[in-house]
Amino acid sequence: MDQKNVWIGTNWKMNKGPAEAIAAARALATFRPPEGIRCFLTPPATSLRDVCSVLEGSPMMVGAQNMFWEDSGAWTGEISGPMVVECGASTVLLGHSERRQHFGETDWTVNLKVHAALRHGLRPLICIGDTLDEFEAGVSQETLARQTKIALHGVSPEDLERVVVIYEPVWAIGSAGRPAEAPFVSGIHTELRSVVREIAGESGVRIPLLYGGSVSQANICDYVVLPDVDGVLAGRGGWDPADFMKLVACVSELVSAKVDA
Ligand code: PEP
Repeated sequence: MDQKNVWIGTNWKMNKGPAEAIAAARALATFRPPEGIRCFLTPPATSLRDVCSVLEGSPMMVGAQNMFWEDSGAWTGEISGPMVVECGASTVLLGHSERRQHFGETDWTVNLKVHAALRHGLRPLICIGDTLDEFEAGVSQETLARQTKIALHGVSPEDLERVVVIYEPVWAIGSAGRPAEAPFVSGIHTELRSVVREIAGESGVRIPLLYGGSVSQANICDYVVLPDVDGVLAGRGGWDPADFMKLVACVSELVSAKVDA
């Protein structure tokens, strides 16, 4: 494990209404992750503003779980980049597989959202992932390369410096998922690194590549030690603030063990 920033995030999904979200944010408000660990969380839209206010000034980045690409207008049920910014968020999750699977999100709508997020100064956290069928057919790499290339199509070299790509195998997510084996993730991320270097040139080495899918205290270090894994996105494993802080503690122990060795 080299001395790079390690990103640790949690996606709350459709959990925690305002009261519960405020309580969880308060529990995290005084938390100070060790240097080199960058933390983020994505509450539901109805809690975004409250969570941003509670965490104002804390190192915890707060993001939306989705946004639309237009700024305003007749788009019932959607939220826009300016709205996310006005809530105080600095980042936005885009292309999560649950949105691709259940809400018709495509590679090209993800691309429109990536451009809109960047236009409004938000950092896009772009999720990509292979389905079980694609995994079993041995086309995971092809799927991920396509999703990544389309998501980043037309993004300027300066803006590429602000994106984060998160590999979340669809078959590894949620209570029915099984965590991907670390050697498999290692191979995928090495290939992903080549893809982002193809897109961004040398600066592609600086695009954070995260893994997500059933990340827990038991397996987080297996992923974070991998050379092309710059952190993780947890769902269930990070919803409880105490568990989230334990995930960070696991990684900080790894960092200090490395320094002491
Ligand atoms: C997710 O859905 O982004 C996720 C990582 O979920 P979980 O950790 O619960 O599998």
